[in-house]
Parts: sequence; C-alpha cells; structure tokens
Amino acid sequence: HVFTDDETARGCPACGVLATRVKECALTSPRDLCAGGEPITLLWHKRRWVCRERLCSRGSFTEQTPRSAPGCGRPGD
Ligand SMILES: [Zn+2]
Repeated sequence: HVFTDDETARGCPACGVLATRVKECALTSPRDLCAGGEPITLLWHKRRWVCRERLCSRGSFTEQTPRSAPGCGRPGD
C-alpha cells in the first residue's frame, strides 16, 4: 500500500494553490507499474482534495504526481 508523499500532489491543477483539506480517499491499483520487469500489485491510496481558492472554478481534484510509469517490458522478455 502506498500513499503519495509529495507536497506537489496537493497542488491544484487549475490554480496551483496547495489544498489543505481532504475531500475523500480513493483506492486505486495502477496496472502499468512494474519493478524490475516484474508486474507488481499496488494499492494506491489517492486523495481527493478540496481547493479552497475562491476564484478557482475547479473546486476539487484528485491528487496527481508528475512521476508516471513509462511502462515496462512484457514479463519474460
Ligand atoms: Zn484551484
């Protein structure tokens, strides 16, 4: 189980303000991750944040990280 431990994940994609309030949590399991060519099962606790910037039209957003898995070779390659 992993959590995003990254301050920038709380940044609103619309206005850039760091959110301070969690709206809800969601459990996702990305399938495109791997470790050393081995597919891994990952439970990722994502949080949904409330953007409190009044001028922001977004309201809430799911955290996202700049890091994304580039994909991996097929097992056995
Ligand atoms: Zn915002």
